[in-house]
Amino acid sequence: MWHQLMLKIENLFAGYGRVQVLKDINIEVGKGEIVCLVGANGAGKSTLLKVISGIVATAQGRITFHDQEIANHKPDQIVRMGLSHVPEGRQIFGDLTVRQNLMRGSYVDKVKKEEMERLFNFVFDFFPILKTRLTQKAGTMSGGEQQMLAIGRGLMSQPKLLLLDEPSLGLAPLMVETILKVIQNLCSTGISILLVEQNVNAALQISDRAYVMETGSIVTHGKARELM
Ligand code: ATP
Repeated sequence: MWHQLMLKIENLFAGYGRVQVLKDINIEVGKGEIVCLVGANGAGKSTLLKVISGIVATAQGRITFHDQEIANHKPDQIVRMGLSHVPEGRQIFGDLTVRQNLMRGSYVDKVKKEEMERLFNFVFDFFPILKTRLTQKAGTMSGGEQQMLAIGRGLMSQPKLLLLDEPSLGLAPLMVETILKVIQNLCSTGISILLVEQNVNAALQISDRAYVMETGSIVTHGKARELM
């Protein structure tokens, strides 16, 4: 059980223009906890992650991250506070090298060379393969390697909380296992994880707790082991 609250969402409503998608969402993520968000396509999982990271506006409600209110803060401010979002579909820059992609995740102004090296090494601890691919164009790597790069880029800002949207999407079973194992490793270093997954059984196996979403609302939540 966690002792410190990392993220608290209270009575959150949000959507796109006049289309209301999220209705009265309440969620908590503790320090060093993996929390999984599951639900059918269109339930609103990606929208919720986008609202947390400031990409989609909050219409009503509170989002508290590490004791600070962040609802409707700008995405770059939120990243700087230590909350990083790895979007669905990876969204890496295919024409840029692995190194250039990682540098775009650092979000630190005028990072000194030594600091950049330290951040790179932090990422390589979790994804050693990226070290051997630094000069390769990201678009020429396999889907699994691109997913590693997308998570690695998210880690360059040294997050306290990582939002992961469908990290196993389209990957071979062995690669899914690798990615989920890394998520567990990240969590063991104290990073909190809010994970959206279609691969529900595999995700519940590594999660502490889970919330189930249906048409924009949380319909049930509990310990991952019990929900399984
Ligand atoms: P999936 O697993 O398919 O990504 P999801 O649970 O993440 O599903 P969302 O992508 O958050 O669901 O979509 C929730 C609802 O919001 C859907 O009805 C979708 O059509 C709608 N929606 C998503 N993005 C937009 C947008 N940019 N403009 C308008 N409606 C949107």
